[in-house]
Amino acid sequence: MKNLEELKEIAEHSYPESRNKIGAILICEDGKTYSGFTVRRSSVLGSTCAERMALDNWFQDKDRTKPIKLILIGKIMRIGWNNTHICYPCGVCRELYHQFTHINNIKDFTFECYSWDSKHKDTKTIRELLYYGDPFYE
Ligand SMILES: [Zn+2]
Repeated sequence: MKNLEELKEIAEHSYPESRNKIGAILICEDGKTYSGFTVRRSSVLGSTCAERMALDNWFQDKDRTKPIKLILIGKIMRIGWNNTHICYPCGVCRELYHQFTHINNIKDFTFECYSWDSKHKDTKTIRELLYYGDPFYE
């Protein structure tokens, strides 16, 4: 597994350079990892999140195994945001990973989310990030 400093180096590849810096590492059950960073384009829908880029890289590997965890770190250029705030997946990524893990019957997938200063961490399941109610999960 990459350490957080390596993950921040991946986040530094985010585009454009003056905007959000977000890095993601998708970890599989065999220990193999897939990285991603954020690319902001003219519209939100045309942009790419670090979490989605990591998953797309996973799709490209014909020898891929089951993903078990995603590690996320980010620095968001938003009023009031600072380096102690934990970076969580956006709504689009929550829904995408929810669908992906549900369709592929991946249980207990977790998001390990960090602040940019690496001092604050929160680990969440898909269910905690995107709750659809009990009948859905039975
Ligand atoms: Zn996202």
